[in-house]
Amino acid sequence: MIASRLAGFGTTIFTEMSALAERTGAINLGQGFPDEDGPAAVLEAAQAAMRDGRNQYAPLPGVPALRAAIAEHQQRFYGIELDPASQVQVTMGATEAIAAAILGLCEPGDDVLAFDPYYDSYPAATAMAGARFVPIPLDPPDFTFDDIVVGPKARVILINSPHNPTGRVFSREELQRIADVVIEHDLIAITDEVYEHLVFDGLEHIPLSTLPGMAERTLSISSLGKTFSVTGWKVGWATGPAELVAAVRAAKQFLTFAGATPFQHAGAAALRLDDDWYRAFALELQAKRDHLCDAFSHFTVARPQGTYFANVDVGRDATEFARELPYEAGVVAIPTSVFSATPERLAPYLRFAFCKRLPVIDEAARRLQSLES
Ligand SMILES: *Cc1c(COP(=O)(O)O)cnc(C)c1O
Repeated sequence: MIASRLAGFGTTIFTEMSALAERTGAINLGQGFPDEDGPAAVLEAAQAAMRDGRNQYAPLPGVPALRAAIAEHQQRFYGIELDPASQVQVTMGATEAIAAAILGLCEPGDDVLAFDPYYDSYPAATAMAGARFVPIPLDPPDFTFDDIVVGPKARVILINSPHNPTGRVFSREELQRIADVVIEHDLIAITDEVYEHLVFDGLEHIPLSTLPGMAERTLSISSLGKTFSVTGWKVGWATGPAELVAAVRAAKQFLTFAGATPFQHAGAAALRLDDDWYRAFALELQAKRDHLCDAFSHFTVARPQGTYFANVDVGRDATEFARELPYEAGVVAIPTSVFSATPERLAPYLRFAFCKRLPVIDEAARRLQSLES
């Protein structure tokens, strides 16, 4: 019954693995969502907004307080100047922003380029627009990329840094290589920056739009979910040149029109937390990364530079391994190859999420310590 455009995108391995976690009582490090709530002040701001009668439709562009806070955030962290009226669009999470951007910018038959492995909504959103998904391989063990091949129908390149699932944070040199391609082929860059604040080891997240010549060609996307541990709120945004933001708005208007009003008000409070809060949260996550990564004495770990995820080379087919792991060690993880158009390239990698409470990570680490191939 499903339209052919979407027929290839059936249910994901997450359904199978979460059921397996349920059945075996294993610790679920498969899906990337935190097991504790975001900052109390942010939760309180959502409740206050509801009590204060902010319960009807938000305006199409998003509530003004949130758009102002997004513009301030871009200025505070990156020195980017935005007009909150024409250069900021609030969306139902980054996921809607990505879909609306592709729907609003691509003609049927256009190419959408994206680094592979990729977030699973990218090819699906591309298919909904009738466009063609063109993967650019990130090669293990370092997950770096070769020359980017650009065909005549190329329209958009999607860049996700910090990158899910590999944990890569693209360097300035890598971003410059991408920028050169975008400028040479007159592409539009769409950046997925949902992990912008989850960067480790003193590394820096560099928005692609801050590179020379890129502000006018880049639509930047982010959301509250990962930064503030409120993945269930689905408050995201797209920012950039007014023409690109207008394309997102045109599609978003008829997808959802507006998102949840009280959560948008709370988003304004969240984004205005002080620098120390952002720093402390990244450090806390970095400690969890280390507790988990240090557990794998018999395997090679691609220690992530950012995000919620670590990839482990298990030395054999990771899909089989993932199905045995809940029984062998009482832990659930996801084979990294499910995020790829060329799964054989990533066959031995298993992705573990470490965005869980430290005692949970430590218990998982204890269970994984003695594991062998
Ligand atoms: C979690 C995630 C998203 C989804 O963000 P929402 O704001 O929840 O829609 C988008 N991109 C990547 C890479 C993610 O990991």
